[in-house]
Amino acid sequence: MLEAMKPLPLVPKPDAGQTHLEGRPAVPGMSVEDQVPERALRDPAPTTGPLIDTYDRIADDLRISVTDRCNFRCTYCMPAEGLQWLPKSDILTFEEITRLVTVFHGLGVRSIKVTGGEPTVRADLPKLIGMLRAAAPDLEISMTTNGLLLDRLAEPLAAAGLDRVTVSCDSLLRHRFAEMTRRDAFDRVLKGIDAAERAGLTPIKLNCVVIAGTNDEEVVDFARYARETGQEVRFIEYMPLDAEQRWERDKVVPGADILDAIDRVYPLVADTTGHEPAATWRFADGAPGAVGVIASVTEPFCDACNRLRITAEGDLRACLFALGETDLRTPLRQGATDEELQGLIRTNVWRKWEGHKINHADFQRPGRSMSMIGG
Ligand code: SAM
Ligand code: SF4
Repeated sequence: MLEAMKPLPLVPKPDAGQTHLEGRPAVPGMSVEDQVPERALRDPAPTTGPLIDTYDRIADDLRISVTDRCNFRCTYCMPAEGLQWLPKSDILTFEEITRLVTVFHGLGVRSIKVTGGEPTVRADLPKLIGMLRAAAPDLEISMTTNGLLLDRLAEPLAAAGLDRVTVSCDSLLRHRFAEMTRRDAFDRVLKGIDAAERAGLTPIKLNCVVIAGTNDEEVVDFARYARETGQEVRFIEYMPLDAEQRWERDKVVPGADILDAIDRVYPLVADTTGHEPAATWRFADGAPGAVGVIASVTEPFCDACNRLRITAEGDLRACLFALGETDLRTPLRQGATDEELQGLIRTNVWRKWEGHKINHADFQRPGRSMSMIGG
């Protein structure tokens, strides 16, 4: 079986020189092998059926990063000066992305999310969406974006086959939006959201990273926004995935506290229809819109996680916090068959750990920050 390796192109590089899946220790003296479930070390991955791991979780949702670059510099994600961008030749081509998505689709993946970095800065993005749509007509294709370029891209993306968008927006106040994203772009993002609505990229979801002492006082305003627009606002707990490594536990606002604050003003009822990790709540008075929380820190949902991620350079990660990843680009470029790619993918998923360790004493941040993984 192909077992491609290459050094991690990380900034910062806490353990530069280490290699992929087999080589990066989570804790000094501990190998990545130690984090692989015992059963996965003993038994090979199944060769048929859905993409399953040893905890019986089925992976059917794929986030695919189409660039590591971004036109924002959100404080909780990237430094003001940006990161060391990948050379163009390292980034998967449209043909390579389409090939991989076709292989994943054949393995039971039903939905993909195009992400980044900022996906809309990738040139000719509608062309890629059109290629993906043609390759897998029944696939749900969505995109996570900061919304800056949606005013001109929403229409062509929808025409090419994009189903819906999630737009990140951390404040409804122009000055705070500028502070958090380091770009004075609030008005243009609102225009982008309008354009997405008009283009039918719905239902629109808004992602809001809540940081204590920064924007937590706005959660009720965001709930009001959800009621007024009919959109779903999803509050994301601040995760230790910022490139500058400034994350502190005290800055995390628990999802439960966010829901309490909203419920006191706009009573909420749980929406139990979805199987997404984000718990969704509707308004008890029947108002449109919804709120959700992604409480990865205080209430990890690892036991229900169905997500996989591919980085812009083609590395497969079974967990946001995974310390190992599988290089798919090298075998792809070396002419691997679909069966060989399937084998690499199945093995990666089979070896997925039980859950991330944010709340454990031996937690170690992954070498990649959020924009380099693809959130
Ligand atoms: N640039 C696009 C955007 O911002 O929507 C897509 C990529 S971004 C990395 C994906 C999501 O990750 C965004 O909703 C962003 O708010 C979130 N994110 C980034 N850093 C985060 C962190 N440290 N903790 C929690 N969420 C984070
Ligand atoms: Fe860019 Fe998205 Fe990271 Fe903000 S969260 S810096 S928009 S990749």
